[in-house]
Amino acid sequence: MTVKIGSGSNVVRVGWEVPVVVQSMTNTDTADVASTIQQVEALALAGSEIVRVTVNNEDAAAAVPAIVEGLAARGIHTPIVGDFHYNGHILLKKFPGCAETLAKYRINPGNVSIGRRDDDNFRTMVEVAVHHQKPVRIGVNWGSLDQSLLTRMMDENSKSATPVPARDVMMEAMVVSALDNAAAAERYGLRRDQIILSAKVSGVRDLIDVYTNLAARCDYALHLGLTEAGMGAKGIVASAAGLAPLLLAGIGDTIRVSLTPAPGGARTEEVHVAQQILQSLGIRSFMPQVTSCPGCGRTTSTYFQELAEQIQGYLRTSMPEWRKLYPGVEELKLAVMGCIVNGPGESKHANLGISLPGTFEDPVAPVYVDGKLHSTLRGDNIVAEFKQILDTYVVRRYGHSA
Ligand code: SF4
Repeated sequence: MTVKIGSGSNVVRVGWEVPVVVQSMTNTDTADVASTIQQVEALALAGSEIVRVTVNNEDAAAAVPAIVEGLAARGIHTPIVGDFHYNGHILLKKFPGCAETLAKYRINPGNVSIGRRDDDNFRTMVEVAVHHQKPVRIGVNWGSLDQSLLTRMMDENSKSATPVPARDVMMEAMVVSALDNAAAAERYGLRRDQIILSAKVSGVRDLIDVYTNLAARCDYALHLGLTEAGMGAKGIVASAAGLAPLLLAGIGDTIRVSLTPAPGGARTEEVHVAQQILQSLGIRSFMPQVTSCPGCGRTTSTYFQELAEQIQGYLRTSMPEWRKLYPGVEELKLAVMGCIVNGPGESKHANLGISLPGTFEDPVAPVYVDGKLHSTLRGDNIVAEFKQILDTYVVRRYGHSA
């Protein structure tokens, strides 16, 4: 299935026939319109193609139209998704402006009907979605899994002649919750191509198992992500390890990397990581890639690390403009290497490569362009000269393909 999110010329498609979409979520108080606009803008400019905001109370719901309007005034038309828990059925009915301006609703079936025997709250949210013709993500999360469903399945398992481990029952309950609620959403009027499913867990093996199972049992578009991935290297590595096997198996239509930002850290990091996962797997290209060696005892200083960092920074600041002027530049490959051992070889595999001098080597840095020796740099101006060669290459190679 392919789901359309947004309207008019700002539709983002999520599904089988289109590339995997990168999305993210704000961590501002949604009721703080100015801060939320600022963060959504930053996420969108970093490349987030869908942005979710929490809609947790009346102030947040009331703020949504002003947020969408404020973003449009800044030229940002990224679809905004509302994340609802517990009270979405009340907020969506009471704030029709919120219901209309959101591009999609996320419903957590594990907490929308707490304390009820019926699914009236869930049905109310779906009926609002049908009324406004908005797609819905039915987002199951193992931290808030429907406890009555889980208890029933655990009981059935314990009475079974061949009981399975509790972990397997939990994984099955995630899938059953997603599928049962999707079937209910269809009964209440949503089309299959208005439904996205997710079943998020925080363990890598669990994630792979639950999504493999889910994908085998339905044709809904799937939102992939490790929930609560964690901080720093742990969050990045776990997300990549969990998403990679699924994406390579063709499972997953949109991804979010749920990193915990470091205090004062940029929220946009989760967007860059999601993009990098897709690009490392050869699924989509977003940024020129820099191959750089780790350095070792053959490198005399940190100079080549600094060069690699400067080139990376230069690419990041140049890309917003380059993307418009030089289509295809995101496929560019660079190499920044520390010595002669692998430097020339790796540089020849890149579009543009530089091999800095290691210990006891001549203080020169050969530059390779499309596999051939282009020039040999020396002296204090190597960075500026390499950037100049890079600029010239980008204009020559990608300047005419518009
Ligand atoms: S390319 Fe040279 S400096 Fe870099 S890791 Fe290999 S041997 Fe060490």
